[in-house]
Amino acid sequence: MIVVTDARCTEYSKAGHPERPQRVSRTVEKLKGQTELPITWADPAAVPDEVILRAHNPRLLAALKASAGDFDGDTPAHPNIHDHARRSVGAALTALKSAKSGKAAFSLIRPPGHHATKERMMGFCYLNSMAISVLEALNIGYARVAVFDFDVHHGNGTEDILRGQPHCAFHSVHQHPAYPGTGTQSFENCYNYPVAPESPRERYREACSKALDQIAKFKPDLVAVSAGFDAYKGDPLCQQKMEAEDYHWLGESVRKLGMPTYSLMEGGYSNALPDLIFAYMKGLQGA
Ligand SMILES: [Zn+2]
Repeated sequence: MIVVTDARCTEYSKAGHPERPQRVSRTVEKLKGQTELPITWADPAAVPDEVILRAHNPRLLAALKASAGDFDGDTPAHPNIHDHARRSVGAALTALKSAKSGKAAFSLIRPPGHHATKERMMGFCYLNSMAISVLEALNIGYARVAVFDFDVHHGNGTEDILRGQPHCAFHSVHQHPAYPGTGTQSFENCYNYPVAPESPRERYREACSKALDQIAKFKPDLVAVSAGFDAYKGDPLCQQKMEAEDYHWLGESVRKLGMPTYSLMEGGYSNALPDLIFAYMKGLQGA
């Protein structure tokens, strides 16, 4: 397993904000303290502006560079947030590169990205690392790229950027109603699987199975996963009931697609996050 991270991603925080540095630092600690799963650590790649601008409007990138004020109530203009967001994209590009070499890769970095649209930073997200990496994958020669987003929130930003884009398909399993309120219907190359609040965990798994079946039908040559761990039963932001073993099953299910794959951490705000990520990685690795 290749894990891409950068210690600098723990340098920003805001009191009371659930997207906190410990999400990464405690997970790194957990991964370094175990011997079950061999891990190769990797650094984020450099990211040229033009790679970002395939996915985002130049106005968004200019606003991020200026960071003149908070982007919305959830998405503060932390000091150096432009550098942090760009490193998060770079980690996605390293993960993509690792997938190309045949090794499963996990990008363990913050900020997350799947809510950032072409035009707008929102929901703890500044640059959409997933969409940017998918457009780069198509640019370097992949023919069909499937995105699987199992974060409990709809990946509205990834959908906004990838809708109608040839040679890729977006699949999102999420709670509805919940933030950001979108993702009730499927259209074009976007497949949405909403799950009601307080559903039994079997229901969330069932929706994931449907998305995975659809992905298999699409016959991708690369599967990119927006791995959010906030459908966990103990997560403070939503009302789903997934367990650690369900994340192991998700990893296993992605592995069974039999395609090159990489995963990017999106949400996940409970103290169990390191265990959930570890369970998912073991599933991915067949351990
Ligand atoms: Zn989320």
